Amino acid sequence: MPVETLQSIAAEIRVCEKCELFRTRTHAVPGEGNPFAEIMFIGEGPGFNEDQQGRPFIGAGGQLLTEMLRVIGINREDVFITNVVRSRPPGNRDPLPVELAACDEYTVRQIAVLQPKLIVTLGRFSMARFFGPRARISQIHGQTCLWEGITCLAMYHPAAILRNNSPQMRQMYADDFRLIPPLIESLTVPIAPPPPPPTPEEPPTVLDQMRLF
Ligand code: URA
Repeated sequence: MPVETLQSIAAEIRVCEKCELFRTRTHAVPGEGNPFAEIMFIGEGPGFNEDQQGRPFIGAGGQLLTEMLRVIGINREDVFITNVVRSRPPGNRDPLPVELAACDEYTVRQIAVLQPKLIVTLGRFSMARFFGPRARISQIHGQTCLWEGITCLAMYHPAAILRNNSPQMRQMYADDFRLIPPLIESLTVPIAPPPPPPTPEEPPTVLDQMRLF
């Protein structure tokens, strides 16, 4: 059985016909980023620009995401970005349960290959996948849960921040992003220090020598 890679999963996604969205998409959007990323961002689904280019978060929402990453000193190229559905729902409608279910296998497989330290959910569909259907973004943004041993952090979708367009909301968004570096730090298991070199054998003291007689 060939080893699964992010590229092999992406190749499958590009020709996927597991839900009806393949009929209306221009390009499927598998996700992209550093294959060794510690942080995985999971959004909702491709919009117009993403569908045209086959890349995630390249429109206005993507610009805000990139800007927020810059605020915390992280380059977009250092993380992995994907969505819970990988083909554009027509007219940017909400993804249907059947579409989310069909695409979920790819989310699980991408996580299994990447093994991120932290999953950041962007928006309510991604949040519901990891925090459960009862979670409310206004209540749990900035909070974490454990999913299959991986820490997940709930965040607003960047498009929601752009829609709201208030300085307070932007400030809150930046504050949520500022949670990421200390979280990553706390999730990094320190490498055990090497064992101390063996101590040379102590020469017998005069007292020890006298005890020999
Ligand atoms: N919104 C998303 O949720 N994902 C994208 O890739 C683009 C916009």
